[in-house]
Amino acid sequence: MADIIQLLPDHVANQIAAGEVVQRPASVVKELLENAIDAEATHIQLLIKDAGKTLIQVSDDGKGMSETDARLCFERHATSKIKMAEDLFQLKTKGFRGEALASIAAIAHVGLKSKQEEQEVGTEIKINGTKVESQEPCVTQKGTVVSVKNLFFNIPARRNFLKSNAVETRHIIDEFQRVALAHPQIAFSLHHNGSEIFQLPSTNHRQRIVNIFGAKTNEKLVPVEEETEILNVQGFVGKPEFAKRTKGEQFFFVNDRFIKSPYLNHAVTAAFEGLLKEKTYPSYFLYLNIDPKRIDINIHPTKTEIKFDDEHALYAILRSAIKHSLGQFNVAPVLDFER
Ligand code: ADP
Ligand code: MG
Repeated sequence: MADIIQLLPDHVANQIAAGEVVQRPASVVKELLENAIDAEATHIQLLIKDAGKTLIQVSDDGKGMSETDARLCFERHATSKIKMAEDLFQLKTKGFRGEALASIAAIAHVGLKSKQEEQEVGTEIKINGTKVESQEPCVTQKGTVVSVKNLFFNIPARRNFLKSNAVETRHIIDEFQRVALAHPQIAFSLHHNGSEIFQLPSTNHRQRIVNIFGAKTNEKLVPVEEETEILNVQGFVGKPEFAKRTKGEQFFFVNDRFIKSPYLNHAVTAAFEGLLKEKTYPSYFLYLNIDPKRIDINIHPTKTEIKFDDEHALYAILRSAIKHSLGQFNVAPVLDFER
């Protein structure tokens, strides 16, 4: 009888994990932006070339990494954000799996520069498919710059599967907007092939929405506010007369994290009952704060789906809060004639 089971080498395990975490350039963008936020950055710059297929670079002015950490961060399950299983139920950071950088490094050429406030010089690391190629002291500002080049260079099937530059850029912009909407107090910029796409100064929620979606958005927003024992809701819904035929501007954030929830979406739609023309969808930007003990974020690697303890109660609170706001702002039912 022969034993046939082997432990996979790290680079193989990382490449497999990467398949889950990194679907396309936009997934890398999300992970890098979230790391910059967790590092308490106040300014975050995103730079992409060829829809992220050639280069994705995120620079932040956050707390940076020590020399040792700058190398360790590329190991799988290497994280500074949780220490024990209990921490999973009181997450205050975007990251906690310690998988993103290891995964990305397994499928791209990655460079990192990082410096902490108290360090004289920073650390520069180059990685090629999980192999550290070089590590040297470097001159750099406080914070971190991560450059991801030639994504999926070693997985031709994945690379070929990428969509057109227009489509991949759209995904990146979506991801960028979600993160920027969740964190209006942080300044963000986005450049594509040298042109500026967004330059967003530090501001409040309402102004961030306007800065992203245009000045005309301001008059469309109806504030929503509700505080209960289990849920605190803040944000805006679009007036019904501005509802669109597409579902573009619909955003839920739970504890500053963009999430998708068909169930809560239904609660919003229900609040608009009788106010919308057929086949139109209201826009909304709703920021929910919930005790981290009452939610589980760890059900999918990309963390856009989460589980709530008490979904039904959330539904009811959300629906009534929005109904109340629409009523207060004298939003009348739409009569079915063209305006
Ligand atoms: P996670 O975010 O889940 O911890 P990552 O692989 O994304 O896992 O990052 C690993 C670790 O590297 C982080 O826990 C953090 O300590 C460090 N790190 C990553 N990006 C940055 C950054 N921009 N600034 C400071 N530290 C960072
Ligand atoms: Mg991370």
